[in-house]
Amino acid sequence: MDKNTLLQVWPIPAFDDNYIWCIHDGHSALVVDPGDASPVIEYLLQNQLTLTGLLITHHHADHTGGILNLLDRFGASIPVYGPAGNDIPGRTEVAMEGDKIEIAVPRISLKVFEVPGHTLSHIAYFANIQANVLEPMLFCGDTLFASGCGRLFEGTPTQMSQSLAKFAALPKNTLVFCTHEYTLSNIRFALAVEPNNLNLLSWADEAKALRAQHLPTLPTTIGQELQVNPFMRCDQADVIAKAKEVSGENDLPTPAHVLAVIRAWKDRF
Ligand code: ZN
Ligand code: FE
Repeated sequence: MDKNTLLQVWPIPAFDDNYIWCIHDGHSALVVDPGDASPVIEYLLQNQLTLTGLLITHHHADHTGGILNLLDRFGASIPVYGPAGNDIPGRTEVAMEGDKIEIAVPRISLKVFEVPGHTLSHIAYFANIQANVLEPMLFCGDTLFASGCGRLFEGTPTQMSQSLAKFAALPKNTLVFCTHEYTLSNIRFALAVEPNNLNLLSWADEAKALRAQHLPTLPTTIGQELQVNPFMRCDQADVIAKAKEVSGENDLPTPAHVLAVIRAWKDRF
């Protein structure tokens, strides 16, 4: 097989609104955040793919619940990458900030970011352009969503703000593979924050049309999120002004302060 076969990334829908992403070269597959084994098994068999590794972003069951069944089914020696902590059953490799994971088949090199906020030990995997990857790719778990961000179950607004800043520094054409189809409800909230954001208004139409055809709104890109995602825009005048209005605070000195206000607002929206 040609080692430079372009990698493909496909969503395997699970539960109500999860996407389990499958990265493959036509023969070998990596699977990201398998919350449920059965749709993954079905997908791999249907496409005649061999499972060669699992990439886990955080410990929540809708991202880890299928690990042990997949290892049972396809071989206990499959490497399972994931963040530190004792709450990921089957994890074999601890991945930390700055780690470079070199996978032989499918051939891919991934950089690890620690992105606390949604959970404390949340990580993301970034693949820059390489022989068989034409556009950079980010697997961000529940940290960043199209037009939204994860709930702060364990981390602080400051941590989430710093995590999103790491993503904001990535190339604008980076494809972002989020793990939930939350886009339409995120857009409704984003429009409450920025009713006059023209990019957001046209994205709303586009996303509605995709969902009307039952198509995923993902992947998104970093460039797109910088234009339409209020949680990535906490340094923008309109977002700061809205956060001040909603909170009654006159002084929100940093993006983290702004994020704290709009995240709390979204939680009760
Ligand atoms: Zn989660
Ligand atoms: Fe989740």
